Amino acid sequence: MLPTITDALRARRLLRPLLAPTPLSTYPALDAATGAKVYVKHENVQPTGAFKVRGGLNLLATLDPAERARGVLGYSTGNHAQSLAYAAAHHGVPCTIVMPEKSNPAKARAVRDLGAELIEYGERFDEARAHAERVAAERGTRLVSAANEPAIIAGVATAYLELFEAEPGLDVVLVPVGSGTGAAAAALVAAALAPDCEVIAVQSAAAPAAHDSWRTGELVERPNRTVAEGLATGSGFALTQRLLRDRLADFLLVEDEQIGEAQRLCLRAAHTVAEGAGAAAPAALLAHRDRFAGRSVAVICSGGNAGEAELNRMGRAAPIG
Ligand SMILES: *Cc1c(COP(=O)(O)O)cnc(C)c1O
Repeated sequence: MLPTITDALRARRLLRPLLAPTPLSTYPALDAATGAKVYVKHENVQPTGAFKVRGGLNLLATLDPAERARGVLGYSTGNHAQSLAYAAAHHGVPCTIVMPEKSNPAKARAVRDLGAELIEYGERFDEARAHAERVAAERGTRLVSAANEPAIIAGVATAYLELFEAEPGLDVVLVPVGSGTGAAAAALVAAALAPDCEVIAVQSAAAPAAHDSWRTGELVERPNRTVAEGLATGSGFALTQRLLRDRLADFLLVEDEQIGEAQRLCLRAAHTVAEGAGAAAPAALLAHRDRFAGRSVAVICSGGNAGEAELNRMGRAAPIG
């Protein structure tokens, strides 16, 4: 089942009392540094620090009573986990999260603080995912995929309803991609409200599975070595790839070093703490300056949950373009 614009509108009605619209802001220093007219969609100010809470709240709201009673189980590098834990707590549903063992400690703590059971397993996202599938089968709990969930995409789409209503004349929207719910949601809403706006996905070259899946038209697995945990997946997801196939204008890769540079730019020019994934879209502006110069470009600052080590790296002096 593919999510539709109608599902996005339903999600908005459902989320309206739960989440305030996030700001869309411009910063002269950011325009000067990139040469573009930049609009920052501040999903980093969500109560969980990332856009994913929109999808989690919408998904939990649409479960049937039997599923609610058995609870939900998710796997995540952190922000999907926080989203599910937050939404489950709001709806009074038991929640279990499987995270890789060396996850961002701030994200692990946040999951526990939200009252979810946390299982730490495996080296990377994909091992945590396999373990989560086993545990969910054993317990009979509803396994919530990071991406193959129409209700999550419909919830995330509310960000793009806000975006195009606030700024209908955008030339481009740059969306960071891990599993692809954000980009799929952007493509869905743009097709309905802003068909002339290019939706361009951005992923780290150090974890290019979604990018390569889109380019090849098949679900491929790729090495997953990015330090930006929101972008760290090793394979393409069927539902999001299907939604992205015909609707993306392009898919760009950025280096992790460029993401680091963009994090410092966000800090300096937009007074914004972006975690790595949250700075991938501005990194694409820096990496492809000529392409975006002079155009109206929205960048999704998808999250602000930078860990301690990341914050320290960000504060360190580094050359800025
Ligand atoms: C999950 C996440 C992404 C990637 O979103 P997908 O929907 O998985 O493609 C980007 N940024 C942040 C901060 C995230 O948590």
